[in-house]
Amino acid sequence: MIRIKRFIDFLPRSLRVERMIDGFVPVTSCNLRCHYCYVTQQGQFNNELPWFPHLDKIIGTAFSKKRLGGICYVNLCAAGETLLPPETTVIIRELLKAGHYVWVVTNGTITKRFDELLKLPKGWLKRLAFKMSFHYLELKRLNLLESYFNTIKRIRKAGCSFSVELTPCDEYIPHIKDIQKICMENAGAVCHVTVGRDTTKDRLPILTGLSKDEYIKMWSAFNSALFDYKISVFGEKQNGFCYAGDYTSTVNLGTGDLKQCYEGKWLQNIYQNIKEPIKWEPIGCNCPESHCYNAHAFLTLGAIPDLNQTTPTYADMRNRICADGAEWLTPKMKAFIGQKIEG
Ligand code: SF4
Repeated sequence: MIRIKRFIDFLPRSLRVERMIDGFVPVTSCNLRCHYCYVTQQGQFNNELPWFPHLDKIIGTAFSKKRLGGICYVNLCAAGETLLPPETTVIIRELLKAGHYVWVVTNGTITKRFDELLKLPKGWLKRLAFKMSFHYLELKRLNLLESYFNTIKRIRKAGCSFSVELTPCDEYIPHIKDIQKICMENAGAVCHVTVGRDTTKDRLPILTGLSKDEYIKMWSAFNSALFDYKISVFGEKQNGFCYAGDYTSTVNLGTGDLKQCYEGKWLQNIYQNIKEPIKWEPIGCNCPESHCYNAHAFLTLGAIPDLNQTTPTYADMRNRICADGAEWLTPKMKAFIGQKIEG
């Protein structure tokens, strides 16, 4: 049988995205109190920071390129603020050292962590990016807006990528013009907009008192590719063959437990028998979720290959071209996360 060459077959291994791993940092503490936050909604805040033993000795081997099959895009996100535990910087450093591309979801306020991270080797910083969640009203209440945008300027100057993202909530509606203005002035473009979900209800509906049409009309004002794609698939059950569990997966960075997806099957503990090959196993047509609420990452990176032709890239979800032509993603990051994982 003649095998037709795919785009990915022409890419050198050093440029190819092999897998996406969504890493959960098990912390539910946060220095902000946004009412739309999923932890606030479920009353799960606490002030304790987890302790991760010996992560500096584990991560490089557990996440080696050899074990994972190549270079991966690793996303780090907590239930609270990802950069609160000091160990998060160790995890980031070790993943970059291992050769991966790392995105950190953060509220951008823990300045001392950026002080540490932005001193990492220049070559590594090109593979590091920050998803700067923009909690406008909390930053304003705590007088942290200036510090937040100063951090973005430092990130940019250090050669990292970033993306500013707003969780739209009804409380922000009177402030839309102010939000757009402050982002234009300080980040060069207006923020991206996600779709908030109500985690207190079955099927995770949109977190709003507006009708869906009103909601779309309101938040389309940001002209955000992230919002346009998320809302287009929000609430839609995915029935196609999904490679979550192989191309994409989730891991608890505290325990090492690897799963196919948030509600998928447990695959293995990657901190035990640390050199043992990982037994990847795609979830197939058995997605247990009522909808793929993080489709903007999983599906744009190619978890359901049948959708690739009609799905934008993950780079589209994160990048913005500024008024002066600068971009939020560095060329290296844009090329890497602009691919589809093809196995
Ligand atoms: S469709 Fe989405 S939520 Fe379902 S298994 Fe695949 S990636 Fe996970």
